[in-house]
Amino acid sequence: MIIVNANEIVDRCSMCGKDSHLRLTDEELEVLKKYLSNGGYIQECLPSLNKCEREFIKSGYCPSCQELIFGNGKTKRIY
Ligand SMILES: [Zn+2]
Repeated sequence: MIIVNANEIVDRCSMCGKDSHLRLTDEELEVLKKYLSNGGYIQECLPSLNKCEREFIKSGYCPSCQELIFGNGKTKRIY
């Protein structure tokens, strides 16, 4: 379950149980809130995010587990 806390979103990885944080700009946050309430395609809503960052929003998987599962590259925006 994704939590929006100021300009940051927090989610717990269901594989390793670790919490990860992604900081968004004001514009990205507005778009994200719309996406979370209305649905749609995240890659169209937030093209500024890379594959790993979008997957984190969709599934909550942290970058390390994503690397194992999908081979997605790392991101500096998730910590
Ligand atoms: Zn993980």
